[in-house]
Amino acid sequence: MSKNGGSYASPQLGVAEARTAKVLRRKLQWLLAIVVACTGVLATEIIAASYSDYVIARRNLTEVMAFCRVLDAANYLSAERGPSNGVLGIGVAPGSPVQARLTEFRARSDAALARLIADIDNASRTEPAGALSPILAEVQRRLTHARTEVDRIAALPPEDRNLAEIQATIEAMFGVIDALRPAIDWNIQRLTNTDPNLAGIALAAQMLANLREDGGRLGSQIMAPVAVGKPLEAKNLADSERTRGRLQEIWSIVGKPGALPGMSPENVGDLAKIDHEFFGEGLAIIDGIVAVGKHSGAYPMTAEQLTDRFVPKMKPLEDLRRAFMDATVERLSANKTRASIKLAVASLATFALFLVLLILMRRARSLVFEPLLLARHSIIELANGRPIARLQGKGGEGEMGRLFDAIDVLRQRLDERTLLMQHLERQAETDELTGLLNRRALELIGGAERASGSEQGACLILMDIDRFKQINDTHGHLVGDLVLKETARIIRNSVRNSDLVARFGGEEFAIITPGDSIESALALAERIRVNLAREPIVVSEGLGLSVTASFGVAEGQSANGGWKRLIESADTELYRAKSEGRNRVCGHPVAAYHGHVTPAKSARA
Ligand code: GH3
Ligand code: MG
Ligand code: MG
Repeated sequence: MSKNGGSYASPQLGVAEARTAKVLRRKLQWLLAIVVACTGVLATEIIAASYSDYVIARRNLTEVMAFCRVLDAANYLSAERGPSNGVLGIGVAPGSPVQARLTEFRARSDAALARLIADIDNASRTEPAGALSPILAEVQRRLTHARTEVDRIAALPPEDRNLAEIQATIEAMFGVIDALRPAIDWNIQRLTNTDPNLAGIALAAQMLANLREDGGRLGSQIMAPVAVGKPLEAKNLADSERTRGRLQEIWSIVGKPGALPGMSPENVGDLAKIDHEFFGEGLAIIDGIVAVGKHSGAYPMTAEQLTDRFVPKMKPLEDLRRAFMDATVERLSANKTRASIKLAVASLATFALFLVLLILMRRARSLVFEPLLLARHSIIELANGRPIARLQGKGGEGEMGRLFDAIDVLRQRLDERTLLMQHLERQAETDELTGLLNRRALELIGGAERASGSEQGACLILMDIDRFKQINDTHGHLVGDLVLKETARIIRNSVRNSDLVARFGGEEFAIITPGDSIESALALAERIRVNLAREPIVVSEGLGLSVTASFGVAEGQSANGGWKRLIESADTELYRAKSEGRNRVCGHPVAAYHGHVTPAKSARA
């Protein structure tokens, strides 16, 4: 068996292995690409949903805050009617605080309207609020007109103030709010379109705003006759009655605990306060005035006093509206914060997921895939008898480590087996006693087939110890063995490295000298003969044996059938040497090989 047991491994194997590894790598890459793509789709879905929630929450908050500002403006314009009514009445003392309050309230209304106008251009609103422009212009126009009238009448001496004009001016102030209503409706529409969930909030807010507006109107509708000390007219009574009915109706809807969306049960207290202060005390003031006004103009209070007493009763109405709007804004603002946190978390989680995936991909590649390929490669190399590097400890602690350790054990076992095989091979080819090649090995080498063209001549020396039987018989077998060993040593010391020396039989040796001429072979045989005969072989203390040998040398072609002839020739020569008296070398070129016979040639030392 050849030392390179892998000679049967085809050279294509390495190429096929590389191709398999490439295909496996590509499959892994595809798998990873699919995983990354699926994760990407999922992450995009989640982030897109979170982002959309965030955008909706932000838009809802913006829209509701804009709506709040419209309702605030309506509230300030309603409230402005209080001091306006106050200054319309006769009997307002010069320097009365109502004048100062009017100035203050007008400034508040103007500021609220200015904010609405600013809102129109506000880029944060998703749609041009340009529709509000003509509405606000109309509000401004009516407000300017009503204020001019208020100021004009307030400047008149009491006797010149006339009921119809005062009534018209009060109604002009109503007209300001009426002009603003389309803006409120526009905002409600917009909120409903933005998010149907906001419709309930918008309607509730509108009803609360109407509650405040109608509450104010209730007072204003009877204000003109009070201002000039005249009895109430049928119109005053009818308007007042209608407004009261509307107030009761609205209150029956929103005045119950839990009726306002998103309001906590804590507003029950606010409801009770409205019941008590506005619907109880406030309406009682109006009822008192109406009771008098039906018959005479002798009211128990002036317009200013009526305003001063009635207006505070509406405060709980306004407080409720404000509390409702504040709670709504707070809730939507919390929604927006929650949505932004969710978006941030989703984005971060996605980022982290991709990071982990990337790390996992790299780890899977370096910890599983590459080691598996290496393990596969190593096993194939081992199977083909090729050496591999030590794998022990290279696969880490886990399964790969154990796999590598196992491959390493396999490698060690195979190495041991190879050594054993080499040992056995050597044993099979070696003569145990002398350490030379045995006959079997010599014949294998000498008679091996060779490719045509590489035929090379060789010389064979056959050598036989003379009268060896006698040595055995005289000194015993062990001494005979010693003589054989010493003879082998002397032969080894006499030949070149390229020469093959074998123990051919009992006390026979053979030497092949490849590429040598017969002359050189004869000379070598002679050298061995002389070296052997020169000194006695010491077999025990004081006992040296003179040993000689006879040599037969032949030249020929050892391979391709020539071996047998070569042996026969050498044997013939050896026989001749024996018969010619032993301790000599006889040689003759192979006749068959050369095609002619050359004279026998004897070499004698
Ligand atoms: P010749 O000169 O004609 O060669 O005479 P010879 O005595 O050497 O030849 P023969 O063939 O009669 O004897 C060879 C002897 O070698 C016979 C055998 O007992 C002995 N012999 C063969 N192998 C061994 C061995 O391994 N050890 C020992 N001690 N003797 C061996
Ligand atoms: Mg013999
Ligand atoms: Mg002999």
